[in-house]
Amino acid sequence: MALNHIFHFYGGVHPREAKVASRAAIVSAPLLPQYTVPLAMHIGAPATPVVKAGDMVKRGQLIGQAAGFVSSNIHSPTSGKVKALDFCLGAAGTQLPCVLIEADGEDTPAEPLPPYPDWQNTEPDRLLKRVGEAGIVGMGGAAFPTPVKFTIPVGKYVDTLIINGVECEPCLTADHRLMLENPLKVLQGVAIAARILNVTNIVIAVEKNKLDAIMELAKLAPTVDPNIRIQPLEVRYPQGAEKQLIYTVTRRQVPSGGLPADVHCVVMNVGSAFALAEAVIDGKPLYERVTTVTGTPIASPGNWRFRVGTPFSEAIKLAGGTQGEVGKLISGGPMMGMAVYSQAVPIIKSTSGILLLSSEEVFQYTSKACLRCGRCNDACPMQLMPGILSTQIENERFDDAQNWNVMDCIECGCCAFICPAGRPLVQHMRRAKAEVGAKLRAQKAAEQKAAELEKKLSKTTIVK
Ligand code: SF4
Ligand code: SF4
Repeated sequence: MALNHIFHFYGGVHPREAKVASRAAIVSAPLLPQYTVPLAMHIGAPATPVVKAGDMVKRGQLIGQAAGFVSSNIHSPTSGKVKALDFCLGAAGTQLPCVLIEADGEDTPAEPLPPYPDWQNTEPDRLLKRVGEAGIVGMGGAAFPTPVKFTIPVGKYVDTLIINGVECEPCLTADHRLMLENPLKVLQGVAIAARILNVTNIVIAVEKNKLDAIMELAKLAPTVDPNIRIQPLEVRYPQGAEKQLIYTVTRRQVPSGGLPADVHCVVMNVGSAFALAEAVIDGKPLYERVTTVTGTPIASPGNWRFRVGTPFSEAIKLAGGTQGEVGKLISGGPMMGMAVYSQAVPIIKSTSGILLLSSEEVFQYTSKACLRCGRCNDACPMQLMPGILSTQIENERFDDAQNWNVMDCIECGCCAFICPAGRPLVQHMRRAKAEVGAKLRAQKAAEQKAAELEKKLSKTTIVK
């Protein structure tokens, strides 16, 4: 099962696991009368709508076409009528273009994409095309379009595929249940991804707090692809972060500002592997996913298969509603999730969890001065110095923060978790990253403009 010696990434913390929904089997959520389907469920350009108000659609029908290379197709979660093309609130607090679908209650499926049951003998290029057709994205949180991830830049090569079944975020159990209940489909998706990438070094990394899933995968892996290794890992947050996982499994270090392909790796989430198998073997586009609904105020925490466009409010209702005073609603887990201020936000392809915290659990603080204890330095998996960075950022010394590599911060929250002064370190890092990012974009735009001007001038004939 585990063949390689495993390394530990630097830093990290051990938050309380609180995976109370780990024994709750996945249940398919019932149909709703309406879905709010964002056209921007991924990193990159929002999809272009290919339907208009009044159109009738079927489940799985294309309603948004990828608008460029870094974008993704969007499919209808059920059959019904397009009520409107509108805007809706996203988890990040921004307005997103969306398609409102009034369900007809029939859930009539559209013609599936042509399935490839014989995927072992299907051309890798054809399989890669299917990844795009089905709208597959990274389902672990980032929602990076998978076709982009699978297109290795010229001059680089990949020799290792790492499947991320770590689910190191406390409270979340969706990936755990998916691996436990659907190991064959997950493994088939992994093997399809390996065929597309033409790699034979394939590792599914799972933390040891999911031993039942590890056993299931290990039992079936040889029947799907003998090259697949199941790698149990010690529990440690943020082991599921891409760079940390690559180091843990291969001891290769992604350079600052670099990509996994720089160290010959591709990392893919188990949810994406499952969706890939459905897309290739069943011809099913990605319009539903497993999401954990949990937290102290939730009456019945569990894992549901929700259609995209389901409002958080409906998911919370399905989990028995809330008891006691709710202090915070989070999209994702408690460490890297995003605080959301409205339950109207819809579930999208990357919604791994909906977490509610009680008002007693929400830590209200005023930022105190740094104690110079250095604990954050020990905890930071990117080997940054969060204490010093936060002081620079408080003083708006963003150039200094850039020189101290703030752009490498993965916003994991380990520093804030460990800080005895309760300093809002992640908020500081996000602020600096936004400031430095804006400066770099402006610089790039100015450089492009200068280059264009130079090109124009070089073509101009000067008459003397
Ligand atoms: S500075 Fe960034 S990467 Fe380092 S611990 Fe804090 S949030 Fe994580
Ligand atoms: S853990 Fe908090 S108090 Fe200690 S050095 Fe870091 S920022 Fe300062």
